[in-house]
Amino acid sequence: MPLTARVGSASDTGLLRAANEDRMTSSATLCAVADGMGGHAAGEIASQQAIAELEQLATGAAIQVADLDRAIARANQRLLELGDQQRGYHGLGTTLTGIALVDVAGREHWAVFNVGDSRVYRFADATLQQLTVDHSVVQELLDTGRISADEARSHPRRNVVTRSLGTDPAPVADIEVYEPLPGERFLVCSDGLTNELIDAEIAQVLRAFPEPQHAADELVRRANQAGGRDNTTVIVLEAGIGEAPEAGRATAS
Ligand code: MG
Repeated sequence: MPLTARVGSASDTGLLRAANEDRMTSSATLCAVADGMGGHAAGEIASQQAIAELEQLATGAAIQVADLDRAIARANQRLLELGDQQRGYHGLGTTLTGIALVDVAGREHWAVFNVGDSRVYRFADATLQQLTVDHSVVQELLDTGRISADEARSHPRRNVVTRSLGTDPAPVADIEVYEPLPGERFLVCSDGLTNELIDAEIAQVLRAFPEPQHAADELVRRANQAGGRDNTTVIVLEAGIGEAPEAGRATAS
């Protein structure tokens, strides 16, 4: 377990949407965001189910990358069943993106996982680095050089994902494993943040607000200030693995 940990989170409906269909879970060892989609209440049911499936991993025991993979597959299966069983839930789905502390050959590592277009970033040495790759139409257009990063942010199809949970065949989750670095922070967020703020502005907030809760609140405030066109969910995690405990910091339970 991390010696010290600070986690901040914030989620907001935004200025235009009727409901907040983003869901999240945040602890010192597991942070995830799910951005639900589907008519009526289906979107929030989907994101809630995906987060609930993941939370079953947070039992305190060391988890493996294979556990994550299985939890994501179970979430997909559960959503397929719901879509079949419940009138009005057909077509429900969700993104699922986050970071978990995993055991790799007896040592703690971070596993970053992603299905969809929510994101995980690492902020270290005052530099912001996107760790996940969006599964989206816009990302494919970017990859093939057909649009610029600027055009991507205002592209009419910017909300269209190419992978999500609740689809058949089961989507492949990207899972990457990283060695913990001293002083790093992680940001997990829904596209409500990244469609409103460019990476440079996100980095500026993380530099200006070292306290994770303050950074999370400020990022959501700025997303709304920039238009708040979608639900925005943000988790900032500073795990402090490998660092000596400092006075005034909360100890992870
Ligand atoms: Mg969204």
